[in-house]
Amino acid sequence: MSEGTRNLVIAGSGVAGLSAAVYAARADLDPLVLEGDEPGGQLTLTTDVENYLGFPEGVGGMDLVQRGREQAERFGAEFRHGTIESADLTGQPKLLELSTGERLRTRALVVATGASARWVGADGEDELMGYGLSTCATCDGAFHRGDDVLVVGGGDSAMEEALFLAKFADSVTVLHRREELRASEIMADRAREHDDVEFRWNTELLAVQGSQEAGVTGARLVSHPDGYPTEQREAGEDVTVEEVDIGGVFYAIGHEPNTEFLRDTPVELDGGGYVRTADGVDAWATTATATDGVFAAGDVMDREYQQAVTAAGMGSMAALDAETWLESNDPVSAEPESVPAEPGD
Ligand SMILES: Cc1cc2nc3c(=O)[nH]c(=O)nc-3n(C[C@H](O)[C@H](O)[C@H](O)COP(=O)(O)OP(=O)(O)OC[C@H]3O[C@@H](n4cnc5c(N)ncnc54)[C@H](O)[C@@H]3O)c2cc1C
Repeated sequence: MSEGTRNLVIAGSGVAGLSAAVYAARADLDPLVLEGDEPGGQLTLTTDVENYLGFPEGVGGMDLVQRGREQAERFGAEFRHGTIESADLTGQPKLLELSTGERLRTRALVVATGASARWVGADGEDELMGYGLSTCATCDGAFHRGDDVLVVGGGDSAMEEALFLAKFADSVTVLHRREELRASEIMADRAREHDDVEFRWNTELLAVQGSQEAGVTGARLVSHPDGYPTEQREAGEDVTVEEVDIGGVFYAIGHEPNTEFLRDTPVELDGGGYVRTADGVDAWATTATATDGVFAAGDVMDREYQQAVTAAGMGSMAALDAETWLESNDPVSAEPESVPAEPGD
């Protein structure tokens, strides 16, 4: 399908993309929002959001993003199914190729494609994610007052999650598949010295148990004295499998920013694959990337905070930055151009 050049395409329909869509639509930019494989983004994986401003009783994750979408649509934002598979961002207009086979042309692009938390692959995780199993202690820790919880991971973020959870939980047990942590010395020491944080070395999670009604109630663990117990088990070694009663499980084994489609573009990524945006006092806009007319917002460029409210804030910034850029670089009111069907034609 070919269509005219858009003013603005927003890649991603999580809170960052939705917030960008509200601002851009209200500015008459006629934004097109590409939903990606996960319409509504990561918040659709959680039941209660208690720390988003304006909802004193909390709000369901799904409810929040649905409201955001309705708000953006009310001002004229268009939503479309599809994921960007590749992009040519070198010239103008920018060319996007979608998983649906569609090809789009746009003057400006907001990248709000998020960063997916890595999952362990344990049994039961699909059913229980958001129901006592989480990838975000800041978000869900307060639901575990008085519980015994597990944290899976061995890096700095696992130590941070464990220390944060220790404020609420009765006990926090860090599961690590080796005997040595990857975490920095200082973070590892803080966790080791905390009275309520324990470590289970050479141990991995096989299954999360419970139900969506009751939440997480237990876990099945596997251990081997030489570490990497699931690999040992696959190699036919004797391993110890046990079941434990617990009230919550937190994955802290890193995030994967959704930036694969940017790999061959001039947009700069950092070592972890996150989009680099401009910084420093001379930067004219904080969401601008190294590529003219490409802006980034939310978890895809923020490895630090990764919260709904920060992502929404950055989404609005990206839309405002894109609007300013469009005003000075390309007439926003330009008539759609007729375009060839193939990018690069
Ligand atoms: C279980 C869980 C509970 C959480 N609870 C809370 C909480 O209580 N409070 C809080 O503040 N935060 C919470 N968070 C964190 C919060 O969800 C994220 O910080 C927030 O969703 C980030 O928004 P985002 O728009 O940047 O990215 P995401 O929400 O990750 O959205 C990314 C969007 O990009 C799309 N996409 C991906 N790749 C492409 C592509 N190539 N082309 C087009 N689209 C693409 C996806 O389909 C998705 O729509 C939680 C996260 C999880 C996983």
